[in-house]
Order: sequence, then C-alpha cells, then structure tokens
Amino acid sequence: MKMAMLIKRPNGTQDAVPGEVYKWHTVENVVRDSAEQFGFKEIRIPTFEETGLFVRSVGDTTDVVQKEMYTVSSTGDKTYTLRPEGTAGTIRAIIENGILNEGLPQKVFYLLSCFRHEKAQKGRLREFHQFGCEMLGAASPSADADTIALAHSVLGRLGLKNIVLNINSIGCPECRAKYREALKAYFEPHREELCATCQERLDKNPLRLLDCKSAEDQAIAKDAPIMTDYLCEDCAAHFEGVKKNLGIMGIDYVVNPKIVRGLDYYTRTVFEFISNDIGSQGTVCGGGRYDGLVEELGGKPTPALGFAMGLERILLTMEAQGCEFMEEKTCDLYVASMGEAAAAKAVEIAAAMRDEGFYAEYDLVGRGLKAQMKYADKIRAKYVIVIGDSELESGTAKLKNMATGEQTDISLGEGLLDDFGAQYYEMMLSTDDDFRSFVESFADDKQ
Ligand code: ATP
Ligand code: MG
Repeated sequence: MKMAMLIKRPNGTQDAVPGEVYKWHTVENVVRDSAEQFGFKEIRIPTFEETGLFVRSVGDTTDVVQKEMYTVSSTGDKTYTLRPEGTAGTIRAIIENGILNEGLPQKVFYLLSCFRHEKAQKGRLREFHQFGCEMLGAASPSADADTIALAHSVLGRLGLKNIVLNINSIGCPECRAKYREALKAYFEPHREELCATCQERLDKNPLRLLDCKSAEDQAIAKDAPIMTDYLCEDCAAHFEGVKKNLGIMGIDYVVNPKIVRGLDYYTRTVFEFISNDIGSQGTVCGGGRYDGLVEELGGKPTPALGFAMGLERILLTMEAQGCEFMEEKTCDLYVASMGEAAAAKAVEIAAAMRDEGFYAEYDLVGRGLKAQMKYADKIRAKYVIVIGDSELESGTAKLKNMATGEQTDISLGEGLLDDFGAQYYEMMLSTDDDFRSFVESFADDKQ
C-alpha cells in the first residue's frame, strides 16, 4: 500500500529521477563540449545574490523584477534573491574576481538553476535550469555571430530540428530613445485597450509592449513601428555585420522586429531560437548584446554579450521530436554467489573489477541465486559470474554473456581480470559501433 505523502514537491518544480537523469546528462555533456570547442570556460556562482544586483541589471520595469523574484530577508537590513537568471551574477563575479584584467575576450559558460515566481505550466517552471554563456570585451559583429553559432551548434548536436533563429537589433541608447518615442505615439491612442501591465509599460518601457503575451495586445502591436527603421549608422552597420557573419557560417535566420527580450540590459543584437513543437513556451534560447551592463555593475566599460538556453524546454523539444539520448551506463559484471564463502569471494571480485574501471555489483540484500540472476537481468548486466562452493574449490566458474546466453569457463585466480578483460573487449568490438571506430582510429594512428 502506498502511504499518503505528508509533503509534496513545490508547485513549478521537478525531480529528475534516476531513470530520467541520463536525459539531462545527454544535454549537459553536449553543452559542456560545445562550449569548450568555442573557447568558453565554466564559471560557478552563488544561488543567491543581493537583491540590488538583479534590480540594477535585469531592470526594475521587467516582469522578472516586478513579479517573479524570490526574495528572502535575513537578519540585518540586506535582502537576498534567488537568482532568476545567470548573467547578473556572472558579470558580478567577473568584475569582483578581476577577470577582465586577464586579457580579452573573456568567455565563460554556466549550467545552473534559476528561480522565478511564475504561473507554472508546460515549459514554464518556478525552478528551471539554464545553460548560458557570456563573452566580454568583444565589440565586433563577429562576436555576436560566434556566440549565436555556439547556441546553434548545441541545438544541432542534440539533434533538434525546425528551430528558427530570430534576430533583431534594438540599437543603442541614442537611437532607441527615438524609437521609444515613436512606439509611444503609436500605442497611445490604444491605451485603454491594452492590458493593465502594458498600460504601465507604455509610460515606463514601451519596448516591452512588443513582448506582451496577450493576444489582444499582440494584435494592436501588429503594425507598430520597427526598431530596424530607427537604427543609427553604427548600429545598422553592426547589424549588417552580424548577418554577414552568420551567412559565412551557413546559419539560417529570420529578422524579427518583435524580438526585444524581456530583460533591460540588452543593446544592439538580440536573438531567440524558437521551436514550434512544444506549444506556446517555444523559446528555447534567448540572448543578445549588453554593452552597458559591466559599467552599470561598477566595472570598466566593456562590451559584452551572451545567451541562456532553457534546459527543460530543450528536453521537452527533444522528447517531442524523438531525439536520441545517450545510453544509460549498465552493469558490466554481476557476481552472483551462493553460500557465505562464495559471498565473500563475490565482494573481492567486484572490488577488483571496480579497481580496473568496470561497473560491478553483487548481492547486498541476501537474495537466493535465482533471485540474484533475476536482479542481474533487471539491471541489464552484461555478464554474470556464478560462484558456489564447488567453484571455490575448483578455482573456475561460469561467466555468462547475458545478451547471447553463451557461457565460458573463467579462472577465479590470478587470470580473472585478464580473461574477463579480453572477453569484454571482444564483446564491445562486436556490439558497440562507437567503441569499434575508436579502436580502429587508434590502429590507423599507429600505422
Ligand atoms: P519567456 O518570454 O518565455 O518568459 P524570458 O524572456 O523570461 O522567457 P529569459 O530570461 O531570456 O526568458 O531566459 C532564457 C531562457 O530560459 C528562455 O528562453 C527559456 O528557454 C528559459 N526560461 C525562462 N523562464 C523560464 C521558466 N519559467 N521555466 C522554464 N524555462 C524558462
Ligand atoms: Mg519570462
């Protein structure tokens, strides 16, 4: 009988149970590897920061700061907030640790959890995970394109299809000021028809109106003026440069004037990768340039840019598209035993196997031999050795290949590791394509 649980998981959070966690590993391995290929090094930052950091950097008119932050008070007068995103803390850490003095550009990436008090739904959680990267000290359009290329590489390597790269430029503070006025003039006659939040946005931050999720507001915004018509000469040239470099790398994109991004610190290039396969929360990755942020946080003026990828949305899309996940590691050798002396031998063999780098298990719960074999089957052990009193006496036992059912004699003495190693190698050569091509490439090198 299942007992009634006293306390359940908080709304908008998820558990990654052992049977599913290999999906996360698939994504994490690919993002780490791709980030390193592009020269990004991992950074780790605290889960919470002083609230002021997010208010200053994310911006006090954004949804994140106005409605979504988990802020906790502690003794004293400071308040702290669970990070709603990774950029602010990363830039803070880069400035605080003097990393900008070490030669530019500096390129870092992170894998972390974020916390936002949102209405939980598919693809929108209260605790979610991001892979993000930040590049500091590179002002050229090629830096924008290279950062976009990293996100593009990750999505491609994960096997994702039909993900559209949307790009836009939101200019610099100078040209954006003119655009903001044009937007205000456009929306003002519709003020009463807008949602309550957008009425406020109209006064404080009209660009945010383009980002509104309400269908009515989106309809009103349909013919709004577009930023790319207002770009100054430098910003327009920069945007052309980004497009040119994307072209060189063969990365397809659409220019979408409605992309403005939810956070305040962006300048010039902004972009989103959008999937149509997971419903309305389809933005799997968002990013852009934020040339003013380092200075805003007390560092010397430094051009910078980055993106963050929502890993839950990536996983949802991978599942929806039937993408392949890496295989779970399965047991190499299960040592089954009968009797006390044999059980002790099983412990010894498993320990020696593990020292050699194999994944080995033996009985820990006092099962009979038949039940041990059943368990070995359940954990999909590749091989089983069966040891009883007579095997101990003769010094040889049966080694069973669980996939083929084939049984061979194996010495329990000195030769055990070598004999098992040799059989295992042959089995891998004939069943694992990756292993075979690895071995073959090694052989080619030797010639
Ligand atoms: P949205 O418009 O969907 O609210 P956002 O603009 O708030 O997204 P960002 O702050 O740019 O999102 O975060 C980068 C990425 O993190 C998003 O593109 C998305 O993939 C993911 N993300 C953001 N909020 C959530 C959430 N609450 N749950 C799951 N993933 C999220
Ligand atoms: Mg949001």
